[in-house]
Parts: sequence; C-alpha cells; structure tokens
Amino acid sequence: MKTISILGSTGSIGRQTIEAAQHLSLRVAALAGNRNTALLEEQARRLRPALLAVWDESNAKDLRIALADTDVRVVSGMDGLMEAASLPEAEAVVTAVSGSVGLQPTLCAIREKKRICLANKETLVCAGELVMAEAAKQGAEILPVDSEHSAIFQCLDGHDPKEVKKLLLTASGGPFRGKKLQEVYYAAPEDAIAHPNWSMGAKISVDSATMMNKGLEFIEAMHLFGVTPEQIEVLIHPESVIHSMVEYTDGSVLAQCGTADMRLPIQYALTYPARMPSLAGSLDFAKLASLHFMAPDLENTPCLALAIDCAKRGGNLPAAMSAANELAVSRFLNRELPFGAIYECVAAALDSIDIVENPTLDALLETDRAAREAAAAFQA
Ligand code: NDP
Ligand code: MG
Repeated sequence: MKTISILGSTGSIGRQTIEAAQHLSLRVAALAGNRNTALLEEQARRLRPALLAVWDESNAKDLRIALADTDVRVVSGMDGLMEAASLPEAEAVVTAVSGSVGLQPTLCAIREKKRICLANKETLVCAGELVMAEAAKQGAEILPVDSEHSAIFQCLDGHDPKEVKKLLLTASGGPFRGKKLQEVYYAAPEDAIAHPNWSMGAKISVDSATMMNKGLEFIEAMHLFGVTPEQIEVLIHPESVIHSMVEYTDGSVLAQCGTADMRLPIQYALTYPARMPSLAGSLDFAKLASLHFMAPDLENTPCLALAIDCAKRGGNLPAAMSAANELAVSRFLNRELPFGAIYECVAAALDSIDIVENPTLDALLETDRAAREAAAAFQA
C-alpha cells in the first residue's frame, strides 16, 4: 500500500488516519470534508493531495481561493465525493465520513476495485446486501476499521466460517451505563457525548449513549461476516479492553485485546495482512485490575432493541432506522429534542415508512429521504 484517499479527513477517524498514514509513510491522493475549512486547508497544504472534495459549494469556493497557489483541485457535492473515492492513484479508500452520505462514494471505490477501509458503518447498515454483493463481484476487499469488527476480523482470520458458533460484540455501555432511561431522559448533549473510554465525533458519541451504536454495529457485523442475527450476542464490557470475540463450535473463544486507540484498527486495515509497529501503546495486563462483563439492559436502551429488531426484519428497515437516527441525533445536538426522545423519533419515523423487502439502491435512497423527512417532522 502506497497511496490512499481519506473521506472525512477532518473528523476523529480522519485525523487519526492521517497520523497513521504519516507513520506508515503513505501518500494521500484525495481528502474530503465539509465544514472545517481551516483544517481542510491546513491538511491540503501539508499533504498535497491531487483532489480535495468539499461538500458545500460555498465552502469549496472559499478553499479554491485559499489554495489557489497550490496544485490541489477542489471539487464539491456528491460528484466531488465520488470522484475523491475513485481517484486512480489511490489503492485504498478510508471511508470516515459520518452518515449514509458515505454510501455512494463507497460503491464508487468498490467499482474501482480499491481496498475499502470502512469506518462509515452507516453505509453497511443502509445497504449492506448491495455493498457486499458489489464488493464480491468486483473482488474488492472491505476491511473493518470499527474496533469491534476489526477484532472479530482478526479472530476469524484463518478459520473456517462454518466452524463459527457466534460473535460476541462487546460494548462499553457508554456514559449512561447502569442508568434508567427516565433518569437520563433530559440529559444534555455535553453529558451524552462524554464517552468514558473513547474520544469520537459527536454523532457516534450520542449513538454510544443511546446504544444505537451497538445496534448499528450488530447490523454491520451481519453483513461483514455473513452471520445471522441469532449468531451475534451483545455483551457489555465497561473497560473496553477486549474489543470483541468469536466463539467456535467446540466452545473455544478467541478475543482480540488492545488499548482503546483507533489508530490500531485503522492501521491494521491499511497494512493487512502485515502487522507493523503502530502509534498505539501496549496493554499492561498487570495494571488491569479486573474485567467485567454483563448482558445489555434492553429495557433502558430501547434503541439497541429496535436495531436488533430491524436487523431481523431486514429489507429497507435498517436504512430507515439509520437515517431517522441521524436526523434525531442532530436534533438532539441542536437541543430540539430531549435525549430520551431520540428513540421515540426513530420509532415514529419507522412506523411511517413503506416497507420494501428487497430494496434496490434507488429504493434505499428514497427510504433514507422519507425517514429523514419523518424524523424532522416528529414532535416530542
Ligand atoms: P466526525 O464527526 O468526527 O467526522 C465526520 C467527518 O465526516 C468529518 O470529516 C466531516 O467533515 C465529514 N463529513 C460529514 N458529512 C460530510 C459530507 N456531506 N461531505 C464530506 N464530508 C463530510 O465522525 P467520526 O470520525 O467519529 O466518525 C466517522 C465515521 O466513522 C462514522 O460513520 C462513525 O460511526 C465511524 N466510526 C468512528 C469511530 C471513532 O472512534 N470516532 C469508531 C468506529 C467507527 P467536516 O467536519 O469538515 O464537516
Ligand atoms: Mg465500534
């Protein structure tokens, strides 16, 4: 691997990808972001990509002026993002935008047979069947960046998939672990995004607080590893030392452990199958006092229960759920909805959409639009 493109370079995963890329001496062909124009300019000057994709044309215009003295070409909109995903120079594309906006660029990168280092889980939740089928058809690799999925991927490596009994998907439980939903119903955005173990973007931090993140990861795991919902068990593990596990038919369980540092799974997706020295530190087992495990409290994390139900029912329901959740989370962050109403908003949006059993890409994009419209209209 010599050259990569990074979609969402200004975000939490994007910035850590740049650190890993510099550590590995990789070149960057394209970067993409949107609102953080100051950082986009700084990254473009430092990394000199051939292309910079900026979502809003007004931001792109500002950056075209700011970067006029460089060779960096600035493009905008979905066409720009898709061009950034398809640039011939890049062998791998790290998809680290937040939300289902990542779907179409990911499909473009797959069609160009690039390695997809997938952080953007919403893409697989929205269109897992289509994305995995296209990857199989093109022979494109999809390597997980999400820490749990990277762990499972590592535990599965070299084993016969038929020998897998179940995947144990671990979850820290987020900042409100152990609390009743009523206690946190009116929690402020600042409290919801204060994750105990990981420093992440705002949307995924709120998803961790509602446990919707684990629901999205449940669906992501079904698609990445070709397992049924019955083969996935969610397990609360507050210390985030074991990043997930695989149980085999003989009862043997393999686990992957490491520090809570996303630069490790990001780097592994880039260097796989090789392992190289990374920026993540070592775990000191002697200092780990104890590790805890417990079953999730589905009654007080209804978003997780809802996501598992959507996973089982399939069709366009996961796409609708994920899109409505994006909208509900952004309304919560804008203080338009209380924390506890995120679930109610998503559930109401799901009730309003037309169910499609085997959706095409167009049907999924229409579902995404309709679910957002319903979630925007929801009144708590
Ligand atoms: P952030 O919110 O920190 O970053 C999101 C990135 O996406 C930013 O660079 C943002 O640009 C960019 N972006 C958003 N919308 C657009 C758009 N329309 N066009 C172009 N760029 C856009 O999120 P995270 O880094 O935390 O998460 C990114 C993805 O990775 C999510 O899908 C998340 O679920 C997943 N993930 C994250 C983990 C983490 O530790 N953070 C762990 C596992 C998975 P700008 O800010 O400039 O507008
Ligand atoms: Mg994760």
